[in-house]
Amino acid sequence: MEKQQAELRRDLEAHKQFKTSGTPDAELDQLKLLIRCSACNLRFKNTIIMKCCHVFCKECLDMRISTRQRKCPNCSDPFGVGDVKPIYL
Ligand SMILES: [Zn+2]
Ligand SMILES: [Zn+2]
Repeated sequence: MEKQQAELRRDLEAHKQFKTSGTPDAELDQLKLLIRCSACNLRFKNTIIMKCCHVFCKECLDMRISTRQRKCPNCSDPFGVGDVKPIYL
């Protein structure tokens, strides 16, 4: 009986260790992918195109506006200066 309990506890410890060392990193990587601008992959997304609801970093959208390539990098939908709004997370 005591032996079984010890084994159970060991299983529990192993499970805990797996949880603390395994999952958060993978989750963090996925989160980083989600919040990183898909146009430059460098900066965080902080500006939304209201027309198609795609989100990029301000620099990428500013660059497109100033070079008159006013198309969404994701879906190529044209957008105007007034369609771009900052988002606050
Ligand atoms: Zn960008
Ligand atoms: Zn789009």
